[in-house]
Amino acid sequence: AKRYRLDRFLSVTTGTPKRSVRSLLAQNRVTVDGRVATDINQPVDHFSRITLDGKELQNRTRRYVLLHKPVGVVSATIDDIHPTVIDVLRDAGFPEAELCDMHIAGRLDLNSSGLLLLTNDSDWSEALMAPDRKVAKVYEVTLENPISDECVMAFKEGIYFSFEGITTKPATLERLTPYTGTVTLTEGKYHQIKRMFGHFRNPVLRLHRVAIGDIRLDASLKCGEYRAISNISQR
Ligand code: URA
Repeated sequence: AKRYRLDRFLSVTTGTPKRSVRSLLAQNRVTVDGRVATDINQPVDHFSRITLDGKELQNRTRRYVLLHKPVGVVSATIDDIHPTVIDVLRDAGFPEAELCDMHIAGRLDLNSSGLLLLTNDSDWSEALMAPDRKVAKVYEVTLENPISDECVMAFKEGIYFSFEGITTKPATLERLTPYTGTVTLTEGKYHQIKRMFGHFRNPVLRLHRVAIGDIRLDASLKCGEYRAISNISQR
């Protein structure tokens, strides 16, 4: 999270001129994360717990949410036409006051469903989605036509996307039936799976994400429901 100096935080939050902030500290009136603050230069961030005269000025909890995204909902925080995943969270009972702080870690297309992660912790989401982390995302797919051997091979070897001039990273396509399978990607280009099957003129009828790294969408989490997770591994 972005860090800034304690005097700036106190000045902006309380309307105290910066030069007067020093005296608040000299009088032991300010605490940061439970300790009396003495240094105006102390770095603080979005999640530092800060009090003045025992009154909380900032107290935020890191939130991590696993959402079962329905089809027809956009992976955005605002949209003019479709309901957003924020609307879904609100309808599912997520506290309104904290909604505006939440952002998406790894989007899903409008007509895809399944596991979507939301958090207010950008350090965590950025680390999780960093390309060099190569976190595996697992999808269940249903196709209009049978999945060919050629297609399975091509997923492994990479498919050239002329629009971006890139070749997709090695992915796995495991057939379960002629028309269904599991795809594992370690990256996330725009409409990647649809475009990979599009290369074989095989339209994707259903695309459902079941896992991101070791976080899985279990069967007990119904479509449109969310679960807060706390035992998240940090970075
Ligand atoms: N690939 C797609 O085409 N769509 C998604 O939502 C995710 C991966």
